[in-house]
Amino acid sequence: MTRPLECCVQCGALTDRAGAGDGSLYLNDDGPYCEGCYYDTLITKYEEALVRIGHLGQVLTEALEMLDRAEKRHIAELVELARLRAGRSLAMLEGGL
Ligand SMILES: [Zn+2]
Repeated sequence: MTRPLECCVQCGALTDRAGAGDGSLYLNDDGPYCEGCYYDTLITKYEEALVRIGHLGQVLTEALEMLDRAEKRHIAELVELARLRAGRSLAMLEGGL
């Protein structure tokens, strides 16, 4: 049996895949995509989320570096305080500030 050819819906290149059972790349109902177009489309679609995740990663890295410098005995207390503060911020948001 010959393997069916599958072309990218975006650029028309062969996807090197052959249908849903062969790992074809879809975004919701759109596709199939070649790998390059799939990631380009994914990045475009979720660009704002990616930017925010990037910022979050940076903030988290800085916070972990600060915790690295904190005394070991204070780390659990600091994490608990951060959790309580985050809960309070969330409650303020839910209560309309
Ligand atoms: Zn493509």
